[in-house]
Amino acid sequence: MRPLHRTKGFVILIFCTVLGLLMTTYGPNSIRFLEGLIPMDVCPLPYGRKLWDGTDGFLDLWARTDVQTCTYWGAPIIWEGMFDPSVFDQLHKEKSTRVALTVFAVGRYLDAYLLPFLMSAEQYFMVGLPVTYYVFTDYPEKIPSLKLGQGRTLEVIQVARENRWQDVSMMRMKTITDAIDGHIHHQCEYVFCFDVDQIFTGRFGSEALGDSVALLHSFYYHRPKMFYTYDHNPKSEAYMDKGDFYYHAAVFGGRWQKVRNLTEACYQGIMKDKENEVEALWHDESHLNKYLFLHKPTKVLSPEYCWSMFIGHRNDIRVHRLLWAQKQYNALRN
Ligand code: UDP
Ligand code: MN
Repeated sequence: MRPLHRTKGFVILIFCTVLGLLMTTYGPNSIRFLEGLIPMDVCPLPYGRKLWDGTDGFLDLWARTDVQTCTYWGAPIIWEGMFDPSVFDQLHKEKSTRVALTVFAVGRYLDAYLLPFLMSAEQYFMVGLPVTYYVFTDYPEKIPSLKLGQGRTLEVIQVARENRWQDVSMMRMKTITDAIDGHIHHQCEYVFCFDVDQIFTGRFGSEALGDSVALLHSFYYHRPKMFYTYDHNPKSEAYMDKGDFYYHAAVFGGRWQKVRNLTEACYQGIMKDKENEVEALWHDESHLNKYLFLHKPTKVLSPEYCWSMFIGHRNDIRVHRLLWAQKQYNALRN
């Protein structure tokens, strides 16, 4: 029989060889492979090279080795430390990039959330760029007046109030499509769509702009895929039995053409479900996840871009750019 210390040494040698092979082949993303042996999404970009982000600025995918910074289809995942904010801002100021922000404040959500949302957006959202806020509400007279920064404007658009909160949430897809067709496409290159029940607490800047931008859900990004709450009902258009990530519908965006494709497709899925008398598990979010699985986003935002203090502190979350507000479902929903 072999002495025990020799067997141990042999096991350690094998382990180190495998780890070395993984690190040289996949770089820092191989860390995820070891983390609970989750099937790994391999970054196809060459190790060590900075990524030129379209025309916007450089992203250093290897500035963060503690998190996944790149998807297997080559889209960057944006984390603090990967970019120089001043370079992005300078380039977008020169181009005078115009950004639309859509937000819905229907029923009791208006009083509860809208003002802090808008005031904090003035402080942190795309500062220095021309921004138009599109506020959709059933009660335009109640929109608070707000002094906006230079080049920033606000438009109020009246919408009918749906009876069920699920429909308020889902029908945003239709309203956003119509608003892009009607106003936004003349005025802005990019559109970002937000839930109102959140508050900006840190820079949410031009590094977040991209063709098609999706957000990793703070509750699921570090969990194995088996926990993702996709829609598993084959009767729904949102049905999926596998996916890449679990995206959060509280923030999505991109060039208006891409956002329009997404909102239109989700709306069609929602209407088809209504015809078939089914509803996806997480409503518009389930349809959004299905769409983004079939049409990969070109940029992914880390949960630093929408964190929940309910989760508390995690070492990989270095900044809080947007925080969930307190949920008050009982008081606010019908
Ligand atoms: N919303 C609204 N009034 C409602 C229900 C929803 O204005 O009665 C809008 C609001 O912008 C809200 C978004 O739809 O942030 C999504 O709903 P909610 O935030 O309740 O969903 P959750 O974040 O819990 O998934
Ligand atoms: Mn919300």
